[in-house]
Amino acid sequence: MKALKLVITGIVQGVGFRPFIHRIAVKYNLKGYVKNSGGSEVEVWVEGEYGDLSKFIKELYFQKPPPAILEEVEVYPQEPQGFKEFYILKSTAIKEKHSMIPPDFSICSECLSEILDPGNRRYRYPFNSCAWCGPRFSMIYRAPYDRENTSMAKYKLCSECTKEYNDISDVRRHHAQGISCPEDGPRLWLTDRSGNKVEAEDPVLEAAKIIDEGYIVAVKGLGGYHLAALASNDEVVLKLRSRKNRPRKPFAIMALDRTVLDKLVYLNEDSLKVLESPAKPIVLLPKKPDTPASKYVSPGLCFEGVFLPYTGLHYLILLETKDRFLIMTSGNAHGKPMCINEECAYRDLSGIADYFLVHDREIVNRVDDSVIRFTDEKPVMLRRGRGYTPLWIKLPFNLRKKYVALGADLQTAGAVGFSNKVVLTQYIGDVDDLDVLIDLDKYLRFLSESYGISLSEAEVVIDKHPLYASRLLATSYEETYGCSIVEVQHHLAHVLAAAFEQGLFEDFVGIAIDGAGYGDDGAIWGGEVLEVYLSKNIYRRAGHLEYQPLDSDRTVHYPIRFFISILAKELGSDEALRTSMKYGLCELVPGGLVEIKALLKAIEMKKYSLTSSTGRVLDGASAFLKISTQRSYEGEPAILLESAAKGGRLVEEINDLKIVESGGSLIVETAGIYLELVNSFKENSAKDLAYTVQYVLGRGLGEAALSSLKGKRLSNSVVISGGAAVNEIIVEGIKDVLVENGLDIILPKRVPPNDGGIALGQIIAADLALKPYSL
Ligand SMILES: [Zn+2]
Ligand SMILES: [Zn+2]
Repeated sequence: MKALKLVITGIVQGVGFRPFIHRIAVKYNLKGYVKNSGGSEVEVWVEGEYGDLSKFIKELYFQKPPPAILEEVEVYPQEPQGFKEFYILKSTAIKEKHSMIPPDFSICSECLSEILDPGNRRYRYPFNSCAWCGPRFSMIYRAPYDRENTSMAKYKLCSECTKEYNDISDVRRHHAQGISCPEDGPRLWLTDRSGNKVEAEDPVLEAAKIIDEGYIVAVKGLGGYHLAALASNDEVVLKLRSRKNRPRKPFAIMALDRTVLDKLVYLNEDSLKVLESPAKPIVLLPKKPDTPASKYVSPGLCFEGVFLPYTGLHYLILLETKDRFLIMTSGNAHGKPMCINEECAYRDLSGIADYFLVHDREIVNRVDDSVIRFTDEKPVMLRRGRGYTPLWIKLPFNLRKKYVALGADLQTAGAVGFSNKVVLTQYIGDVDDLDVLIDLDKYLRFLSESYGISLSEAEVVIDKHPLYASRLLATSYEETYGCSIVEVQHHLAHVLAAAFEQGLFEDFVGIAIDGAGYGDDGAIWGGEVLEVYLSKNIYRRAGHLEYQPLDSDRTVHYPIRFFISILAKELGSDEALRTSMKYGLCELVPGGLVEIKALLKAIEMKKYSLTSSTGRVLDGASAFLKISTQRSYEGEPAILLESAAKGGRLVEEINDLKIVESGGSLIVETAGIYLELVNSFKENSAKDLAYTVQYVLGRGLGEAALSSLKGKRLSNSVVISGGAAVNEIIVEGIKDVLVENGLDIILPKRVPPNDGGIALGQIIAADLALKPYSL
């Protein structure tokens, strides 16, 4: 007889883990117990024959419930205690201070086959779920994850479900908190845009039918409302675009299964692994040339955002439509949060959707679909929401205090930090809209309460930018709770988030390739090389892209103005005007020649701020090459530039950027790229030039990082983060330089490199009290 105590951490609560342990313990004739203990831990005691114990351990790893993740399994040999049976002990006796809140899981294959089986009592039941799958975070009011703490509380289990719930041999439904059936579960119905019920024997079937007829249907899903529409029909897609006031930003396509996906995009083993994981995120994948999707779904892009149905409801809708793939885009008014209830839906979406497919289960927490793309052949998170929130990030050290971090301003998320953990909120959005800011407050409070952080004792961390809306929320916390506020530089937070998410815990160099962030000198930073000395609590701006003039916000929306501004700075107004006329650049702004002349005047009079932004340089090039001349969504010109460069070649004449030293900093000269673009425009294709601009920028930043590393004791891994850190070609440029010199790169994976991940870095910077210094 031997005995073992196991302490297992990871996603082990709310996934049917204890019944699973019970089953395999009984199978191998082991005695003892399993119980939830504090944190996200499960404690297991097993005693029995040596061979049985090792079989148990093996099965623990290889037969675990699909959504369970074993982060750590600690095994302690013990003296056998002579247990008579194997027990599932109640967790109620323990005060669960830090119970992990499970994320939402997509419907599992077992539940799916039940709803497709005419003989099953859950046949065509849209809300089927079990211990291995279904909503979690989106329907939880408070931790821990027990039915009475969720919006399933109001549905009383029928006798059949009760039997399953109490049956210890029912692996998927024993003690499964969210289960239901057609007898006792949520109800579904269809209405017109005024909320009048549309009589239908099967509302799902009816919804599918009207989608096929070209109507737009708002569908209440798991974490919010979607707008569902035919993706194959130009007219329908354009109708959706005009009603949603969204001229070009890509829509995601949900496809029934692998076979349907295969018609739309190129798949491989890695992308399928992500697409079919329990989180079922949207994945950006290369479009097939003969895709049946309308070209208006993702205009100008070589990628399509695709995902698989993650609830029974979505699956059943897709199954009944003729294409078996549909646009499924967030149901929100422009700039507003996605609707999670009927009040919002009928108010904000009645001008967009023709019909509404609604159910009576409350969505407690809004959670948008997550978005992932591949960069350097690895998945990178672009938007972290459903399926990943609120998983925590473990730090390699204990935080000194408790923190509430407010992120940045656009496409952002907040976070809380305590002990050795940081928990990011779901993707929140652009907090310059008051409703979105209120949402940020709501979810920060939810996480604070869940993890026992009182706002009066927390340190509140914000971005250094004096005009960010998140600062207003921080000020209100300060006034109400008297908490202290710490400011953190934007790009420092970016590189720290990436480094710590990937487990780097030494002095390092980070490259931030970004749109805009407030710099320590008051300029707008965005192409930065930072030396970060964790050991000395300091960081240094070792290099950056050359400062360029940025006269106004209008230039961000019409990026040819940036291009012309640089020409004017380098060549003077007269020459800049001549070049603009020669290449037809004046037609790329609404005000034509008059507007360009006014711009040149402003530059002459030095009416501008300075920026080292990578995004602006990319946008300007995209406009000059006439790939994208007007920005309708964040990052559009740069994203289209990357797409247009697919398959492009390096133009040798523009092969290298000059790097000069100035005041202890390395300056990567960007004006030269623009001048070379003009010079080589005639002899080269836009594709090759687009590729070259991005690659050369990457090389320039890589060279600056390399020089900064020379002779210093810094990590051999260079961290890359920021909104443009997903740009494959820039990353390739950086990597080529570093790899040639025996170094490698680190890209974030679980946390977005953009402002959706910045709150993690804010907490680390605040805790380590990192201060800037210059040589
Ligand atoms: Zn299931
Ligand atoms: Zn039932």
